[in-house]
Amino acid sequence: MRDSSENTGVRVCGDWESLCVDCTFTPPDSTTPGRGRYVDTGMHEVGIMTSALDAVLQQARTHGAHRVQRIVLRIGALSGVDAAALRFAFEAVVPGTPAAEAELEILDVPALAHCAACDTEFGVTSGFIFSCPRCGRLSGEVRQGRELELTRIEMT
Ligand SMILES: [Zn+2]
Repeated sequence: MRDSSENTGVRVCGDWESLCVDCTFTPPDSTTPGRGRYVDTGMHEVGIMTSALDAVLQQARTHGAHRVQRIVLRIGALSGVDAAALRFAFEAVVPGTPAAEAELEILDVPALAHCAACDTEFGVTSGFIFSCPRCGRLSGEVRQGRELELTRIEMT
């Protein structure tokens, strides 16, 4: 078994750059150059999964693999992505591909914001601007929780 492992360097930024705050893509309708922003388009999980699968199959080709056994995605709590919808989308897009029998594992990443004023890190669950529980100032600095990453691919 070959394992592309954690160091694939693959970031799943295909069709949903508008969701990705970590890539440098600027959506055509974005007012924030170089930083993606979240745009709710309904069932965007299908587009996400399609892009993820493209990236997976690309990796499989690169490694000369014929069958993908396991795919691991990291999904941040603020990514705007629903894990259940993602699983549903996965079942819809994999048939007929080398990943048809693959197991999909989704790792939830809790969201953490940081307050620069008092250097406090705190957990958040939703939103874009967060109130610091220690000093009350507002912060938009998210340290973790917007991930949308293809972490691991196992293939043979
Ligand atoms: Zn603070």
